[in-house]
Amino acid sequence: MNETGFPPKEKSFQKPQPEDQSASVAPWYKDGLRFTCQRCGRCCSGPSGLVEASYGEARAMAQELGMEWEEFLEQAALEYEGSFFMKEVRCRHGFDCILLDRFKKDGHEITGCMARNSRPIQCRTWPFWPEVITSPQTWKLFRKRCPGIGVGELHPLEEIEAKAAQTHDPTAAPPRMLLRGHRLRMFSGSVQD
Ligand code: SF4
Ligand code: SF4
Repeated sequence: MNETGFPPKEKSFQKPQPEDQSASVAPWYKDGLRFTCQRCGRCCSGPSGLVEASYGEARAMAQELGMEWEEFLEQAALEYEGSFFMKEVRCRHGFDCILLDRFKKDGHEITGCMARNSRPIQCRTWPFWPEVITSPQTWKLFRKRCPGIGVGELHPLEEIEAKAAQTHDPTAAPPRMLLRGHRLRMFSGSVQD
């Protein structure tokens, strides 16, 4: 007790200080990650999935394809609440994105995107999506669907983080996607150990 009759203030009553952010741990991929697309087409095909494009991306794709806007909407994309979703075509693998081009090279089938320069952000940022780079285990797991993961070009930390920040977070997917039972292409279907 002091002369006021109240117990002296002790350190334990002080407001806790926020942790020092500068001491945060570097991500496991701080030295970069290897990825080079093998053009197998698996991320653009398989079970039905959604490839979402913004209005700006859809316009750019129409332009790259040399299509009038109405023609693009009729043949390549569906509009829903201001977003655009690429149409699909049935194939022996399940469903191909309408823009997936399959052709032979040196006796092997390879694939490409017909609108490569303007493809939607979810396609441009693959495979540096938050759910893919969560841990070395998830990175390895997704390699089962994408043979480009873990091989070839070394992508630096800055690029990985920039792409992860841009891409669509499936946990924040609009309810319409969940209600329709679709998941974004690239991780539609099962990815299991
Ligand atoms: S699954 Fe991977 S390797 Fe195959 S086309 Fe897609 S990004 Fe390229
Ligand atoms: S828009 Fe192009 S890259 Fe994206 S899923 Fe379709 S074919 Fe693949």
